[in-house]
Amino acid sequence: MVKAEAVHKSFGPVHVLQGIDLEVRTGEVFCVVGPSGSGKSTFLRCINHLEKINAGRLYVDGTLVGYREKGGKLYELRDREVAAQRRDIGMVFQRFNLFPHMTAVENVMEAPVQVKRVPRAEARKRAEDLLDRVGLADKRESYPAQLSGGQQQRVAIARALAMDPKLMLFDEPTSALDPELVGEVLDVMKALARDGMTMVVVTHEMGFAREVGDSLVFMDGGVVVESGDPREVLSNPRHERTKSFLSKVL
Ligand code: ATP
Ligand code: MG
Repeated sequence: MVKAEAVHKSFGPVHVLQGIDLEVRTGEVFCVVGPSGSGKSTFLRCINHLEKINAGRLYVDGTLVGYREKGGKLYELRDREVAAQRRDIGMVFQRFNLFPHMTAVENVMEAPVQVKRVPRAEARKRAEDLLDRVGLADKRESYPAQLSGGQQQRVAIARALAMDPKLMLFDEPTSALDPELVGEVLDVMKALARDGMTMVVVTHEMGFAREVGDSLVFMDGGVVVESGDPREVLSNPRHERTKSFLSKVL
């Protein structure tokens, strides 16, 4: 579903991604862990072309992200084409980024109505179903400020799902939450995984990675240092850098 080949990304002189190679298979939960500044968020943002890569190739579902290849040359896609690619990719951030002036159900139905031109009544019905699915049937008419962080994050997940993505990207979705609210968000993510959603999850929740993850990569300094089955990597890290990182977070 996602294929990265020698992906490089720099911000000015800062060489953040220094050749990322990896493959995320359809239906798997792919966890990304690593120290702060290692390039995890940057990599996620490259997957939906919020950042342009400087070298290498990124594919989502077999399609080159952000570019068209013709005669061995790359041509940048137009904004409209990039937007069309992004439509199939849901993203959930550390901060919930809900529209504050809209209720939960309005937040969830917004993109289908505005972007896909789904009729409002139909979009509302679907949004209500999605809020049920994330355990918020009774919070449909609440505004973000009236919801806990965990509830807001679950609305954010429902909102991403409303566009029927084939891939979900999560960037530390629980790290801004009070500890007692982390579980409810992870439970929603686990249910999503069981339903077969392809998910790339940047996380510090090693318990989640161990329990739900199908693959895990450890990133440091803009490269993949180690990868494999999460239980294997977390229990028997082979590289010193992985060992040192895990000894601090586990
Ligand atoms: P964290 O665990 O703290 O979220 P991360 O692994 O997600 O860290 P990134 O946010 O990808 O790390 O950042 C990697 C490096 O890229 C950092 O040195 C950061 O300062 C730099 N960086 C990220 N975005 C930009 C930007 N827009 N402009 C300049 N530098 C950036
Ligand atoms: Mg980050």
